[in-house]
Amino acid sequence: MERLHFEQEHNIFRESFREFLQREVIPQQEQWERDGIVSRDAWRRAGEAGFLVPFADEKYGGAGCRDFRYDQVICEELSYINEAGLMFPLHSSLCAPYLDAFANDEQKDRWMPGIVSGEKILAVAMTEPQAGSDLAGMKTRAEDRGDHWLLNGSKVFISNGILCDLCIVAARTDPANPHGMTLLIVEDGMPGFERGRRLKKMGMHSQDTAELFFNDVQVPKANVLGEPGAGFYYLMQMLGKERLTLACSAVAGARAAYGLTKEYVLGRKAFGREIAKFQNTRFKLAEMKTEIDIGQVFVDRCVMDINAGRLGDDIAAEAKLWTTEMLGRVVDQCVQLHGGWGYMDEYPISRMYTNARIQRIFAGTSEIMKEIIGRAEGLA
Ligand SMILES: Cc1cc2nc3c(=O)[nH]c(=O)nc-3n(C[C@H](O)[C@H](O)[C@H](O)COP(=O)(O)OP(=O)(O)OC[C@H]3O[C@@H](n4cnc5c(N)ncnc54)[C@H](O)[C@@H]3O)c2cc1C
Repeated sequence: MERLHFEQEHNIFRESFREFLQREVIPQQEQWERDGIVSRDAWRRAGEAGFLVPFADEKYGGAGCRDFRYDQVICEELSYINEAGLMFPLHSSLCAPYLDAFANDEQKDRWMPGIVSGEKILAVAMTEPQAGSDLAGMKTRAEDRGDHWLLNGSKVFISNGILCDLCIVAARTDPANPHGMTLLIVEDGMPGFERGRRLKKMGMHSQDTAELFFNDVQVPKANVLGEPGAGFYYLMQMLGKERLTLACSAVAGARAAYGLTKEYVLGRKAFGREIAKFQNTRFKLAEMKTEIDIGQVFVDRCVMDINAGRLGDDIAAEAKLWTTEMLGRVVDQCVQLHGGWGYMDEYPISRMYTNARIQRIFAGTSEIMKEIIGRAEGLA
């Protein structure tokens, strides 16, 4: 089905990003999987080529393209090559928008040029060992000490945790109010800010997911993002965009898995004919293709709605819920159609399967998406 919302400039952008991935990323993917981390160099090269934070103003080195279709292209192309570690979407489409929305001019002048050039990699740290879905349960706290906030606590599962130069940390600043949080920008090298383990995971092996520790970190007042105490509401405002980003990636991931599987079943024979010739295979592929195309239409519409400033949080939750569950169904079926080879890491479908599993969990689990949708329907 032809996608109608892209224009020529998006197609040109896609082509040049695809070339960038061919040249700078694909040759390094196996090494990054072994290293458990991507190279900083790839970030800098992406910055130089203009692929980080496309919406950033020209004075910061950006292209000033406030159009989520560019974000969508980046998510899709990374999913097509199954690169889960190089988290440009986290940096450009999730974290940088916090600075865009809540940083003051001095902070933007200080940080945005490095964020756009790839010198300063971003992360956002909300989750704690005892508080994930229930963010109001977080224990990391910051005390007002006049010219700085004194930050203590720890975070877990933080994407870009090892590489990040700037980390948006959510901390409780009003002990009496569970929603009384402040967002602090913690910088690499601040005394008391330590990285813990690079966590071993089922998939996404090239992604540096880590623990972070804050022991009496003196965060200057100049590093507070927006108004002190408003952090919880800022997080809630940004989660819709995060969920749409994941939905864009999920549909593209499913399409990639489908494409590989179609090729495989056309080449593999059993009982004297191609696997593709069995009715079961055709039906399974037909079901997958249908789900992918239907999901694509919904996501593309959400992208245009976010551009127009009218994407509701409940609709973003629907997009994330349905597309990531669909991705799970599709990759599982694709492994099945690969038979034993599907379980072997030398076949890309194996990595797609393990990379996909997290999508139903992070950025809000499927159950939390249902809570959001149910609440919007007046059911809670
Ligand atoms: C690889 C990876 C990368 C991540 N990256 C980041 C990051 O960069 N920054 C960050 O801050 N966090 C990150 N996370 C954390 C992620 O967002 C959380 O793991 C997720 O939100 C779930 O929280 P939890 O793990 O504490 O699970 P829990 O909240 O303990 O949930 C456990 C189970 O209980 C269910 N549950 C919880 N509450 C309800 C409810 N009200 N109704 C019904 N069911 C419920 C959940 O759906 C889930 O099935 C990452 C996690 C992973 C694994």
